[in-house]
Amino acid sequence: MSTKDLIIVGSGIIGLATAFRAHREGRTVHVIDRADRPVGSSIQNFGHACFTGQADEIQPVMEKSREGWLEAAKTVGLWAAESGTIVPAVTDVEMQILKEFADHRGADKVTLLDAGQISEAIGNPALGAVGGAHMVRDLRVNPREAAPKIAAWLAENGVEFTWNTHVTKVSDGTVYSNRGEFHAAEVVVCTNFDLVDLFPEIAERHELEICTLVMSLIERPDHIASDFSMLTGTSLARYDGFASMPSNAALRADLAEREPELVGCIANLMVTGIPEGLLIGDSHAYAKSPEPFIDEEIAALLLEKATAYLGIEKPVVKQRWLGRYSNSTKTNLILEKPDAKTTVAVVASGIGMTYSFGLSDQILRGDF
Ligand SMILES: Cc1cc2nc3c(=O)[nH]c(=O)nc-3n(C[C@H](O)[C@H](O)[C@H](O)COP(=O)(O)OP(=O)(O)OC[C@H]3O[C@@H](n4cnc5c(N)ncnc54)[C@H](O)[C@@H]3O)c2cc1C
Repeated sequence: MSTKDLIIVGSGIIGLATAFRAHREGRTVHVIDRADRPVGSSIQNFGHACFTGQADEIQPVMEKSREGWLEAAKTVGLWAAESGTIVPAVTDVEMQILKEFADHRGADKVTLLDAGQISEAIGNPALGAVGGAHMVRDLRVNPREAAPKIAAWLAENGVEFTWNTHVTKVSDGTVYSNRGEFHAAEVVVCTNFDLVDLFPEIAERHELEICTLVMSLIERPDHIASDFSMLTGTSLARYDGFASMPSNAALRADLAEREPELVGCIANLMVTGIPEGLLIGDSHAYAKSPEPFIDEEIAALLLEKATAYLGIEKPVVKQRWLGRYSNSTKTNLILEKPDAKTTVAVVASGIGMTYSFGLSDQILRGDF
């Protein structure tokens, strides 16, 4: 077996974005995964590349990520909707946050909408929102398509993939696995919350844990476009960019009083459309070893609240699942070098789709 420039452990979107960028730079790349295809967090999510709402400090990385996604979409032939994100404001304080954010981020990135425009954008004349906003630069991809298609394209174009292979140790350019050793000039470890298996001291230092999220896929009625994407008030309280606005405390107080059930399950109520239907979620629960069960009350609550925004009276649920991603209360991103030839990259905040192609640039340039 030949020695490559780069071995990537993990074929989720972080590993694949890094493999894609390295391949485009002319490096030889080998991806190793214990599964037989991408089945991790990267296929379980909304496919929502929510660049606009992230923190100010990472906006340059977000721009890089946006460029990277569009390049990958064009090259690989992925569906990537440039339709942005619609955010209805159902109270004055939600509208106030959106106004503050539009002033802060700029009119080229955030367009404020009046009550009529937001009803039209959502396709629900009875919405009753006071107004809203359109985050014009957000992108969306289909999470069920993106990682598998990028992996297939890379494999067809010279990147080596070794599936069904569990990596047990990474050190100084050697990757040890249940199928023997592999060697490369550099190794990037993108194993998500399973970082604890390979680098327990790094995972423990960042108090890495697993966040579980209740999700559903419902049938999409004709009045909602397949490139639809909506965040709501709980999202405004959650994403760092919105949450740093002056009215954040007032928003949180309002949500606690008005939507105690959503606040109780730590919801980020949002909806995205993909060709298969509408993705609806989500709640958040945190544990090192999570319960595997979907709480039906939470699933029903999210469904009821989301479909009320959309004016869907009888949603037809096609699938439910409990998604999993990495979380750390200490950092949004674990990006470090345990030795001179190894980089570890884990997005520890539920924004890995958004971050992926920007992060891959940081990884390959050693810019951290
Ligand atoms: C329900 C849900 C909704 C989300 N919504 C969004 C969203 O809208 N926007 C957004 O930006 N982000 C979102 N996220 C977060 C995003 O999905 C993740 O941050 C991202 O997919 C993480 O990618 P990854 O490559 O690190 O992990 P994964 O996709 O989990 O890939 C890790 C890979 O490593 C492999 N692996 C692990 N250990 C080993 C080992 N020892 N040997 C070999 N292989 C190994 C696994 O098999 C797996 O294939 C959401 C997540 C969930 C669950």
